Amino acid sequence: MTSLARLADAGFVTEAPTPAARAEAERAMIAKARRIAKIAAEHAADVDARSRFPQEAFDALKQERLLGIMVPAVQGGEEASLSTIAEICTALAQACASTGMIYAMHQIKASSLVVHCGDDPWHAGFMTRIAREQLLLASATTEGGGVGGDLRSSICGVIRDGDDFTLEKEGCLISYGAQADAILITSRRTPEAPPSDQVMSVLTKDQYRLERSHVWNTMGMRGTCSDNFSFAGRAPARQIIPTPFAEIAAQSMLPHAHLLWASVWYGIAAEAVARAEGFVRGEARKKPGSTPPGALRLAELLVRLQQFKGLIIAGLDRYERVRGDADELSSMGFVVAMNSIKVAASESVGEIVSQAFLICGIQGYRNDSPASLARLMRDALSAPIMINNDRILGNTSNLLAVYKHDPSLSR
Ligand SMILES: Cc1cc2nc3c(=O)[nH]c(=O)nc-3n(C[C@H](O)[C@H](O)[C@H](O)COP(=O)(O)OP(=O)(O)OC[C@H]3O[C@@H](n4cnc5c(N)ncnc54)[C@H](O)[C@@H]3O)c2cc1C
Repeated sequence: MTSLARLADAGFVTEAPTPAARAEAERAMIAKARRIAKIAAEHAADVDARSRFPQEAFDALKQERLLGIMVPAVQGGEEASLSTIAEICTALAQACASTGMIYAMHQIKASSLVVHCGDDPWHAGFMTRIAREQLLLASATTEGGGVGGDLRSSICGVIRDGDDFTLEKEGCLISYGAQADAILITSRRTPEAPPSDQVMSVLTKDQYRLERSHVWNTMGMRGTCSDNFSFAGRAPARQIIPTPFAEIAAQSMLPHAHLLWASVWYGIAAEAVARAEGFVRGEARKKPGSTPPGALRLAELLVRLQQFKGLIIAGLDRYERVRGDADELSSMGFVVAMNSIKVAASESVGEIVSQAFLICGIQGYRNDSPASLARLMRDALSAPIMINNDRILGNTSNLLAVYKHDPSLSR
């Protein structure tokens, strides 16, 4: 029996859905996420105050089977579009930015497997497990010893030991490291390899030990529980992803990260605008027949929010048009476009929440009012430093000697 026939027997592969059925299934996923967002909203203040994992929201996401939706149908997933996943990130982030960010980071990790590992038996089997068991994936790219957020460089390296490998990595900042079911971790291909000759490996919870070296006590995104860990793991060598990490980073990880993070930040901005709207409506009710002073600023804010939305939709559309085209995904034009989306989105969220402050005034500044913007502002401040904007602009500026932008509207 072929592997496809076996999957069909197991109920994973049926007839390809019609475009209408697919659209209906994607709408149903978004509707589930909106219901779960209500659960996330109920617990958001406690998650933030206690800097704790948003357990209730993730129990519901597992229950509703939304963790495996990027996985291809042939591996038992729903094969959802990136636009649907982005919409789910936005819905969750409006309620609790930490929940939205954890969901986005999980899907960014899933994308490395989905885009690069379909033909690899171990990783294809692992994707089936993600869909079936609703496994939560975390990321360990950041490293101590001066590497910091430089994705393309590692100090640590994989050490082969027979059919296995071992890996030790210090100073890892791993969001929800303690709660994840598996970690995708970067390192040099061997300890002697140059810092940029990197691989990404997948280790499941039973294959590594995390020693917490620092607890996350930050202004915002407190529920992501992004503690500092020392990582030590051992696993079969087949769990090292065959594609070089440089290709994974360029072709799937960065576009997914920039677009899904931007969708999370858009959710924060949309919630700030919703609170400003509520405030202005409340003021209008107090003085019927007059327009509250904040209404003009609110009109301006709607323009900014629309620009922000357009930025993400254009980015998602561009990615969907070129996905599968490795040359285009690695092209300077595409890299510059995705980098620019990250920088613009991470700046927009802070600016929009700041403008909402001017509308809501002291009610926005308070922690205990329905128009409070305090948590949204603190969460928004993480955006420019998640892969530091200066680092991204530095990378883009290195390309400018040879890159000339395309002035057309259609690319
Ligand atoms: C909420 C949150 C969750 C996170 N979760 C994870 C996770 O799960 N896994 C993970 O691996 N990491 C995670 N990170 C870390 C993140 O991805 C970055 O690695 C980290 O924020 C970078 O920290 P840094 O500013 O100290 O380091 P760096 O990026 O090293 O930057 C240090 C300083 O150098 C400057 N700089 C660096 N490069 C340049 C350049 N080329 N040009 C000009 N200036 C430059 C910057 O201004 C910056 O101030 C998370 C971060 C946050 C905020």
